[in-house]
Amino acid sequence: MKTLLKNVRIETDYLTEGSFTYGTATKKLAIMFDSGIITAVLDNEVEISKENLTEDLVVIDGQNTLLLPQLREMHVHFDKSKLGIPWTPIVPVKNRIERFTKEFDYLNKVPLSFSKRMENLINLELSCGVTHFRSHIDIHPTVGQRYLESAQKVLENYQNKLDYELVAFPQHGLLLSNAFNEMKTALENGANLVGGVDPISIDNDLETSLNQTFELATQFNVPIDYHLHERHHDARKVFTKFLTLIEETKWQGKVTISHAYGLRDLPIEERKELFARLAANKVTIISSIPLDFVIPPLTELKQAGVKILIGCDNIYDCWSPFGNGDVMDKLNRYAEIFDLTTQKELTESLELVTDQKLITASGWIKTGMPANFTLVNAGSTAEFVARKVPVTASYFKGQRVK
Ligand SMILES: [Zn+2]
Repeated sequence: MKTLLKNVRIETDYLTEGSFTYGTATKKLAIMFDSGIITAVLDNEVEISKENLTEDLVVIDGQNTLLLPQLREMHVHFDKSKLGIPWTPIVPVKNRIERFTKEFDYLNKVPLSFSKRMENLINLELSCGVTHFRSHIDIHPTVGQRYLESAQKVLENYQNKLDYELVAFPQHGLLLSNAFNEMKTALENGANLVGGVDPISIDNDLETSLNQTFELATQFNVPIDYHLHERHHDARKVFTKFLTLIEETKWQGKVTISHAYGLRDLPIEERKELFARLAANKVTIISSIPLDFVIPPLTELKQAGVKILIGCDNIYDCWSPFGNGDVMDKLNRYAEIFDLTTQKELTESLELVTDQKLITASGWIKTGMPANFTLVNAGSTAEFVARKVPVTASYFKGQRVK
């Protein structure tokens, strides 16, 4: 279906007076897309000529909204959702091991199907404007491939609405639950990344745990996205081992560390050296922007050239009663925690949920890209982030989702 979206705005530059940036310049655009791909980026005022307006063309009026890239949820758990279940608080536990043991029992008896709970989670995030998901899926010998298969089945019904990556996640410990073979099967069955969790505090064997993680990644040629909550000296040891393995296997650009709480524990001088090495090895850090004083120094990491992305993580599950499924809410929280208040800082912060540079001389949207984008009734990206302006519409492969 050939479509013309006209009357949208794109930011082209910052507006300054002396050293003060007081806004962004925008220009009116029209975009054409067909079969899910952007086929033309036109100057709205002059380039929509008669020959563009063929009879089969669907014309949409963007009503002067701001055109932004696709919003991405980079850390969620499709298999842990309690959405749709009448309220129950989380049970108190002594540690993570007790948490995931109790979670497994709870989810086995839960009064709502896996697919319904997962659909509730996806629908909630779609209603906030997200159309890309990276979800971890628990893999261990007791659950086998059950969660992965159920998740893949649900996703079949969302092909026109979102794209996704599934991380095979040995939540109960790669070594502790003896999950290596089950992880292999998950990767054979279509999981896109290797996950992992705490090689010291869960697996109690840093060397073997990470060696096996990299063995899986290199054998299946997939990236890694690893949950790391280790603190202080343990964090130092884990990061050092990660970097050694990345350099040995040439896994640069293919490793994400989620949470990475321990980075905040290191002294400034050591951070400098470590962050430069993380940047050189193109390691990505993903944060759920926790409020409980464990957040890593994200702006320092960014300044050092480390890519940072955001995910909601827990949204009403056995780990947390909180979470509203809106990544923009997390982004707003990030900006507030790190005191990012200028036009430029707020604009650039959007990269944490789009993985896309926004203001470039030629504009971020290009012919040949998938027609995935977001429309917002805001004057600028900075206003969208700071004022939590609701998303007006989201499009995935040329089809309206929200
Ligand atoms: Zn998680």
